[in-house]
Amino acid sequence: MADDDTCEACGKKGLVSKNVKDFAYPTPMGQVTIEGETPLEECPHCGEIFLPGLLVEQWNRLILTHLGRKEGGFGHKEVQFLLRVLPFTKDEFAQLLEVDVERLTALASGAKPLDLRSQEVLKAMLADYLAGKHTVH
Ligand SMILES: [Zn+2]
Repeated sequence: MADDDTCEACGKKGLVSKNVKDFAYPTPMGQVTIEGETPLEECPHCGEIFLPGLLVEQWNRLILTHLGRKEGGFGHKEVQFLLRVLPFTKDEFAQLLEVDVERLTALASGAKPLDLRSQEVLKAMLADYLAGKHTVH
């Protein structure tokens, strides 16, 4: 991306590299503040912001840590985030939650509420992931 300054959102050239202090990262769960200096690229035409991939990974981890400390159950947006970011396939998630893939999709979309057992399984999966343990199947 360093030698390509074309905006992926509007197609115009001229992305500007800058450092932002304590960047507020918008997530499905609200904003998470990234402390310190964050390098990013901003499009002066449409205002879209682009983040280096490695940073996105670090930030996702930060959000997972935040979710790991959350009290109470996960909302469906949080479930969507977990399904997207945790290193499991849909089939593996469905297997661990003891549901079929259709039901998993319904849970993630908010069409069905997450039962207590599924909440606990997700919490355990997240805790294992944050502790560096991967549930092996
Ligand atoms: Zn743009």
